Amino acid sequence: MDERLWSWDPEIAAAIAGEECRQAGTIELIASENFTSPAVMAAVGTVLTNKYAEGYPGRRYYGGCEWVDRVETIAIERAKQLFGAAHVNVQPHSGAQANMAAMLAVLSPGDRILSLSLQQGGHLSHGAPVNFSGRWFEIHFYHLHPETEQLDYDHIRARAHEVQPKLIICGYSAYSRTIDFARFREIADEVGAVLLADIAHIAGIVAVGLHPSPVGLAQIVTTTTHKTLRGPRGGMILCDADYAETIDKSVFPGTQGGPLMHIIAGKAVAFGEALQPSFRDYIARVLENARVLAETLQAEGLRIVSGGTDNHLMLVDLRPLGLSGRKAEKALDAVGITVNKNAIPNDPRPPAQASGIRLGTPAMTTRGFGPDEMRLTGQLIATVLRNPDDTATLERVRGQVRELVEHFPVPGLPPLSKIVHTMEAAQLGFAGELR
Ligand SMILES: *Cc1c(COP(=O)(O)O)cnc(C)c1O
Repeated sequence: MDERLWSWDPEIAAAIAGEECRQAGTIELIASENFTSPAVMAAVGTVLTNKYAEGYPGRRYYGGCEWVDRVETIAIERAKQLFGAAHVNVQPHSGAQANMAAMLAVLSPGDRILSLSLQQGGHLSHGAPVNFSGRWFEIHFYHLHPETEQLDYDHIRARAHEVQPKLIICGYSAYSRTIDFARFREIADEVGAVLLADIAHIAGIVAVGLHPSPVGLAQIVTTTTHKTLRGPRGGMILCDADYAETIDKSVFPGTQGGPLMHIIAGKAVAFGEALQPSFRDYIARVLENARVLAETLQAEGLRIVSGGTDNHLMLVDLRPLGLSGRKAEKALDAVGITVNKNAIPNDPRPPAQASGIRLGTPAMTTRGFGPDEMRLTGQLIATVLRNPDDTATLERVRGQVRELVEHFPVPGLPPLSKIVHTMEAAQLGFAGELR
């Protein structure tokens, strides 16, 4: 954080300092989170936030857009290069906004969508009843195979013929296996549906070619920019040339007003980073770390949904330990390991309890964790999950977590001990808790 914020707004500065401490002092395993580079953060915290730029480069509704035009054009060109897409829109404020624009582009209210439910690993914006998608469209779901817990393309094909959807959605929030986009396209073509691939989670893996790309197979591809892609919080749409105009119109003026130009600058910086060879190495380490974490947990007697992972995340079935996801999340939180409870396929528990946790490796890999640190992390998780009520164990593991993260600072921040020291010097009451 810019240290001047302490004098400008000490209340907010203190809250941000607390969050810096939390991030530096914990093992972050939330599969949808990552740590952006200082370069991305520098671009985001700039005067670009002041600028209105409704429209697109070269055709704006406001004057003074020559520099933001340049920023947006660079972001678009880099994204095209990264994904080999015919057309890119970098303006969606988030992944959910990208999906909303995609649906507005190809659907009318009441049209049928075929997707995977939230409970089985899909996303809220793929037709959950509480979301606009579930309220304005007729949603039908396909399911994972009950035994393999993986996509079952024969079943999906049968569902598509039965439902005759106008849109089929693939791409998920909690699915650890490779997606066969070519088979999805075949099925979509058979029933005359448009295919939407939502690669919010796996975009970084797709970008470097370590997961098959849906570009050229799905007519529309949506994504976030802040998960494996490691950019600022935001969304993006890639599409075939025939959909370019309708997608652009559906983002603005269809579902959004002015673009967040500071965020688009951050996206451009992140795309530039992702084009470097070092990003491919990073993603390869993310995948290796995920395999090591899954194998460690399996060796400790936990069950990984579908038997393992091909990507950056995994779902851990806690039923062998008789533990709910909620209880596991709390116990791990207490030792400084951050995860989220998650439903497993056909979960017997209600969503607020859940029988699983979702773990991902993108964030800690950014901080430098390798296989050794991942193995230790898996062992610490297993220790906590076997003794969730034993305060002595939790205390001991908390110490081990502190010691481990001290050597792997958050990009742009000093190590934990130094942050705590600074906070004590500033006489912030909560520094003590962080020791
Ligand atoms: C995270 C996610 C989104 C939504 O992203 P937000 O930026 O939180 O709106 C959409 N789709 C999938 C599959 C996701 O995992």
